[in-house]
Amino acid sequence: MADSIAIGGYTITAFSDGRLQTTIEGAGASDTAVIRAFTGSENPEPVIFAVNTFLIEGRGICALVDTGCGNTRGPGLGKLTTNLIAAGKPLAAITHVLLTHFHPDHSNGLIDGAGAAVFPNAELIAHETEARFWLDTEPSQSSNERIQRNRQAAQQVCAPYQKRMRRVQDGEALPGILARVSPGHTPGHSCWIVEDDGDSLMIWGDTIHLTRLQLAHPEIGFNVDVDPAMGAASRMRLLDQVSADRTRVAGMHLEFPGFAYIVKRGGKYELAAE
Ligand SMILES: [Zn+2]
Repeated sequence: MADSIAIGGYTITAFSDGRLQTTIEGAGASDTAVIRAFTGSENPEPVIFAVNTFLIEGRGICALVDTGCGNTRGPGLGKLTTNLIAAGKPLAAITHVLLTHFHPDHSNGLIDGAGAAVFPNAELIAHETEARFWLDTEPSQSSNERIQRNRQAAQQVCAPYQKRMRRVQDGEALPGILARVSPGHTPGHSCWIVEDDGDSLMIWGDTIHLTRLQLAHPEIGFNVDVDPAMGAASRMRLLDQVSADRTRVAGMHLEFPGFAYIVKRGGKYELAAE
């Protein structure tokens, strides 16, 4: 599958940040038997999934959707900047960074080891609902240790972008590039939709973590979902929509390069060939 697709005057290219390793328990589904059945392996450990980002280029824009883990998750991850530079995309050429949400594998790549901005010229754009949850509250205000930790990280990675950060509502944030909140995984988790010339692509963030499992069982969440029931409802709504409309999707944790169509067959969803 090509790493790049065209949507009207835009080219969208997948860039890998690496692969993330977790465990069956970390995958968060309560029923291990179900997971074993759908990971497609006798021995399903470890669970490994891709961490993808997407670069939207065209119409004078060079917008990166999500930034990977930076240097915070070991040598298997944090490869985004090397991959961008190798492809002839200097970090200074990125005009915008659009975030799907503020989890560390999406936003930690905003800063380097010294806490400085990795993208010196980019405007940082995030959904208002998401920004408010992670940035406007003292980390200690939550009783949930993971939320405390992730709030602290989110506030740290945004600090050097403070003067060039924009919070948006649902709708057009850049020409033909729209935010749409799809809550649950995080309170303001959002999709970025690229529309041009009658064609469209939905970059759906973390709608799916474990492709085989969650397409067959979209009701199953992931252990870092802030609100698993709301996340499941959002996932099912999007799966229904993109399978009915034949909207192409791009996923941060779908196998690289992460572009897919979804079809509904016998009440279950599957990835479809182009
Ligand atoms: Zn993620």
